Amino acid sequence: MKETIYTIPLSEALEENGECAFCFLEDKLEKEQIEYALGPAMMEPDYRILSNEKGFCRRHIEKMARAKKALPLALVLDTRADEVLKVLESVRPEEGKGGLFGKKGSGYEKLTETAKKLSCSCLVCERIEATAEKFYHTFWYLYSKEPDFKNRVLSSKGFCLHHFAGLLSSMDKVGGKKEQFAKELYELEMKALSGMKEDVHGFTKQFDYRADKENWQGPKDAHLLAAARLSQSFERD
Ligand SMILES: [Zn+2]
Ligand SMILES: [Zn+2]
Repeated sequence: MKETIYTIPLSEALEENGECAFCFLEDKLEKEQIEYALGPAMMEPDYRILSNEKGFCRRHIEKMARAKKALPLALVLDTRADEVLKVLESVRPEEGKGGLFGKKGSGYEKLTETAKKLSCSCLVCERIEATAEKFYHTFWYLYSKEPDFKNRVLSSKGFCLHHFAGLLSSMDKVGGKKEQFAKELYELEMKALSGMKEDVHGFTKQFDYRADKENWQGPKDAHLLAAARLSQSFERD
């Protein structure tokens, strides 16, 4: 089997037998990226160019703020602010020149589009997504070539909805077995989601004074497990 740097972490994540192997991998990647952004990245001009250009989303800037590294965070935001100002300056609406108040409102559109673009990119998200893509391809490679890997997948607890969608969207190299593999993944996912639904429903029943709390076997954090299954950026730590 062709080993890549993605093979071992993926197999290990599956060994964990947790809720979703890809969430497990992403949590690790995310922690590494946050630490990197406030540490070694300080000395990496290439990274700083990218972080100035893309910035960070709400989730990741919150994580960076919670890391309590005031100076590195301030340095990152200082140069990011330079970039934001520069980009916004380039779309300054000019009255009377067909700009913001011009006939076609092209200045307004450009400004709105630029502000939107500036506010919705995140370097950490982009890096996680790019790495997740590589893991998805490794997953399908192993799934199609390694019966042992496939058995482990099919006896696992399936994936969260976000990574289920990601896996289905990355079957381009699977070839002729696409339909079959998609059906297998679907059956696994339906079983996992039904189990989750049963648990969270049982959990709601525990709040009834007539509930047999002593004998309920479901997880005590069924509501949090359901949140992580159904929502992409649920905070899992
Ligand atoms: Zn997941
Ligand atoms: Zn982000």
